[in-house]
Amino acid sequence: MITVTMLGSGSRGNAILVDGSEGSLLVDAGFGVRTLAKRFEAAQRVPDDVGALLLTHEHIDHACGAAAASDRWSWTVHASAPTLAALAVQASGAPGLTVPLAPSGTAQVCGFGIEHLPVPHDAVDCRAVVLTDMQSGARVGIVLDAGHVPEELPAFLDRLDVLVLESNHDSALLSNGPYPWPLKQRISGGQGHLSNAEAAQLAATCAHRGLRSVVLAHLSETNNTPALALSAMREALRKANWRRDSVTAAPQRLPLSPIRTDGGVGRPAATQLGLGL
Ligand SMILES: [Zn+2]
Ligand SMILES: [Zn+2]
Repeated sequence: MITVTMLGSGSRGNAILVDGSEGSLLVDAGFGVRTLAKRFEAAQRVPDDVGALLLTHEHIDHACGAAAASDRWSWTVHASAPTLAALAVQASGAPGLTVPLAPSGTAQVCGFGIEHLPVPHDAVDCRAVVLTDMQSGARVGIVLDAGHVPEELPAFLDRLDVLVLESNHDSALLSNGPYPWPLKQRISGGQGHLSNAEAAQLAATCAHRGLRSVVLAHLSETNNTPALALSAMREALRKANWRRDSVTAAPQRLPLSPIRTDGGVGRPAATQLGLGL
């Protein structure tokens, strides 16, 4: 079984805690160490639970805490070689303990098989990842920042139990919103971010009887609303005859309650119990 805890997601930081049968990974560390520590506390967890950090790409909202957190908590950082090289020249610095992912194939880390696929985005080497719990076979796919859906991506996301997928913007809100034209073009362009409609179409393609849960990530706070993103996703999944109703949107500022690949309910995050951050 795998448990997925979204510690926060959006353009101001992303971090996803993934627990498997034999260990735990953090996917992305787009918060500073103080904020990360608070998010773990809010989720009633501790950073020492994490065996390794896996980075999707070097942008600050995914990697700004990587070097400091890996130093503080002795996390080994796994990412593609171009991403690790890009980190080394960023202000946040290079992590001390790094292991480059081979360009293809499956890496084995903390009891997970890690597969990864390049996705189009204006980073040096952005990757979608599928984490398979080697003991149970449970599979979680994570697609953050992607400008469009490459041809290989739906097949890469085959037989998932949980899909975490960027649903960044509503196209009408973006085009009518306050962002300057070049930024609108960057976001909606092929190297930017997935719209609600693009995310919904991809999820509908990947939907199958074993898919238990879809988590919407990286929602824009300016060009989207959870209601719009959830509505687009639910409509597409209904048309694809997906019978479950486990679609949630991850907030930027709070952890989301844990989501389990066996369909069980995890402990609610502390923030959702009213304990605050
Ligand atoms: Zn991002
Ligand atoms: Zn990015």
